[in-house]
Amino acid sequence: MSQYTPMMQQYLNIKEQAQDAFLFFRLGDFYELFFDDAILAAKELEITLTGKNGGPPERIPMCGVPYHSAEGYIHRLIEKGYKVAICEQVEDPATAKGIVKREIIRVVTPGTMMESKALSDKANNYMICITELDGKMALAACDLSTGELHVTSSPASQEWLRDELGLYEPSEIIGQVELVDDAYRQAAQFGRKIVYTPWEKQREELARQQFGEAAWARLDDERQACVALLIAYLSETQKRSLGQLTHINAYEPENYMILDPFTRRNLELVETVRERSRKGTLLWLLDRTETPMGGRMLRRWIDKPLLSKRLVEERLEAVEKLHHGLILREDLKGQLKGIYDLERLVGRMAFGTANGRDMLALRDSLLRIPELRMMCADSPSSTLQQIAAHLDECADLAEAIGQAVVDDPPISVREGGLIRKGYHEHLDELREASVNGKRWIAELEAAEREATGIRSLKIGYNKVFGYYIEVTRSNLAQLPEGRYERKQTLANAERFVTPELKEKEALILEAQEKMVDIEYDLFAELRNRISAEVARLKLLAEKVAEIDVYQSFATVSAERGFVKPALTEQYDLRIADGRHPVVEAVMNNTNFISNSTDITEAGANILLITGPNMAGKSTYMRQVALLSIMAQVGCFVPAGEAEIPMVDRIFTRIGAADDLIGGQSTFMVEMADIQVMTERATRRSLIIIDELGRGTSTSEGMAIAQAVIEYVHHEIGCKALVSTHFHELAHLEETLEHLSNFSMAVRESGDKVHFLRKLVPGAASSSYGIYCAQLAGLPGRIISRANVLLERMEQAATTTVVAEDEATGFTSSTATPRKMNDGAGLREDVALYGATPSREQVAVLDVEPV
Ligand code: ADP
Repeated sequence: MSQYTPMMQQYLNIKEQAQDAFLFFRLGDFYELFFDDAILAAKELEITLTGKNGGPPERIPMCGVPYHSAEGYIHRLIEKGYKVAICEQVEDPATAKGIVKREIIRVVTPGTMMESKALSDKANNYMICITELDGKMALAACDLSTGELHVTSSPASQEWLRDELGLYEPSEIIGQVELVDDAYRQAAQFGRKIVYTPWEKQREELARQQFGEAAWARLDDERQACVALLIAYLSETQKRSLGQLTHINAYEPENYMILDPFTRRNLELVETVRERSRKGTLLWLLDRTETPMGGRMLRRWIDKPLLSKRLVEERLEAVEKLHHGLILREDLKGQLKGIYDLERLVGRMAFGTANGRDMLALRDSLLRIPELRMMCADSPSSTLQQIAAHLDECADLAEAIGQAVVDDPPISVREGGLIRKGYHEHLDELREASVNGKRWIAELEAAEREATGIRSLKIGYNKVFGYYIEVTRSNLAQLPEGRYERKQTLANAERFVTPELKEKEALILEAQEKMVDIEYDLFAELRNRISAEVARLKLLAEKVAEIDVYQSFATVSAERGFVKPALTEQYDLRIADGRHPVVEAVMNNTNFISNSTDITEAGANILLITGPNMAGKSTYMRQVALLSIMAQVGCFVPAGEAEIPMVDRIFTRIGAADDLIGGQSTFMVEMADIQVMTERATRRSLIIIDELGRGTSTSEGMAIAQAVIEYVHHEIGCKALVSTHFHELAHLEETLEHLSNFSMAVRESGDKVHFLRKLVPGAASSSYGIYCAQLAGLPGRIISRANVLLERMEQAATTTVVAEDEATGFTSSTATPRKMNDGAGLREDVALYGATPSREQVAVLDVEPV
């Protein structure tokens, strides 16, 4: 260490405290990085790597960024998944003895970004803390920029953890990060970078103070431990009060419909499967919000559909009234448009980073509230009236800001120009003095011109020399001796000062300096006053967001012809003329064909859907799931009429392109999903399985498919939509009382197949695989050969079944399900042998009868 200069020693000491972060070390107007930090940062930020003498003979690698543009560089590093520790000079270099004292004032991490530029308006930025205590897992999710903090827990389970993580899509995970399994890590990586920080330190006392004794006492032990850990991390990295965290939202996962990450992706709720984009998702379709907090709330609602019929009905009531009330809707929108991101504004107030413009944005937003409240109070909706009745307009705060802050404040809060005239007496006096001083200088200029007769004489100001009298070289001779003291020589002019000028200058500059200080103090005082009211403002922001979501739902519903669903606590699900909301919206020039759904306790609860590829099976099944979600979120649904029971969980098993998660095969993933489903599904769940039993041999696939269907039928009894290309499974209708066959209708004309997209009772006769191959443009020779082979195989299969029936005493017309299975299993193997199988081969393929 001693080989280094004192400053480098200081650097190294501070770097010790921030080993997992880039250390931005403030040196005058720059943040400098040294050693490995410099080498990596130069590469990541594409800035020049230089060197600095710091003691040892070899130069120390160094790179730097100007402090006023540091924010952009910091964001870039954060986006790449790094952390940045900001080290400032914490004493005035002018008065410091020796090396200026420096300290880390904040560690910026992906989960603690506060700067609006780096955050997406319509999405939360969550940091998650996970812990396990006595067999229970707890999870706390915090968005520091909006001041949200959610906490929940459950008996330890990987599925549970994955489901919860899937909801939040965190940018950072801390705590017992080893609890996050590889499957999640790899799946999550496709999207963005998540930073994992193992963290053990708890600050229970601090957390207790933060939220108050009463709120703290209501939390279970494992939740307390988790929040205490999170608070410790936040306070150690942010090194300031976390005033925006006022409230803990503790919730029980079972109060919401559970949607595992795969289901959420398969249904494309907030992100599409292929492009991982927002466009083309349910969120995209339903989002007509006018405010950022409305947009974020909408997303949270879609993530967590409700299970309480009463709560959903309250939402639907507001949507219904707004759906009918076009004028009210438009009026609300008009008001909402003028409201800025209240949550994040308030977050920055509490964090101490809000500037004059934030302050004004807050005031302008608050000024919209009385009108908004009136509209809700006068509306026909009891839900909106309720909101109005409890809405705190925070008019006192709007007024305080209006009195203090000028209409057009600068970005910086350290350079004055923020505070209104008449707000503070002494500030006004100083301003007066400074204005007078400037007037005096103007008068002096005129007087000096008069006295010297030099018409081009002028008085100017610069930062280094202060005020000066400037005389061009050609006029120098006319300047009298004595009074003028030479200050600076330019190419064609000289600059002078006089004793009076120096005296006034001191007064003017002192006044200005004082003014800036006073303005800053007044501003900080106002900011503190507002920070003290964070809880009120956050509640207001939430109510505004809620109103916004209602108008958004109503707007889409009115435009797209959605209807109010009738919610029930019963079993039956009935949709008349339902449509897939997103597919319908993105289809141009073609009409979406509506389809009805009837899943009833007395009738069928499993719909087995067959039909060729591209017929519309998976669109139909997703449509049923989406309508359930929309209804339980409180939105209208695309249908002629809909009776929707409260569904506790939706499972989807849809073979998607990116099935390969964690290096597992499609089949293994499918089986793992099915395993979870069999364990977790209840009678109130909805199961959607698309193409059950792919990924293994035909006979095995079909055997498993049948067994799974039977299990769902006998053991779970939930609503299920199952599509399969094994049309041989259609026979199940005969043995399973609550299973009905359906298919997507097609019309054949000549050798063409026309998709009608209509769901009809009964199984499809053929899978039209060869037709699809033809559509895909396979050579004609292959197509005709395939047709010949198919015909031959079908004949072979029939004869085998009959043959075996004879052997076991069944007649072909009453063939048991098992027999038909074998026939189909055979068919694949026939393809392998490439010829009609012999009797021996059939015997080998045979399976035990059920
Ligand atoms: P499958 O699952 O049977 O292979 P999909 O559900 O993927 O078929 O549907 C294939 C395409 O057909 C969809 O991309 C969509 O464009 C169209 N489609 C599906 N259902 C309908 C419908 N009800 N009305 C109009 N077009 C539809």
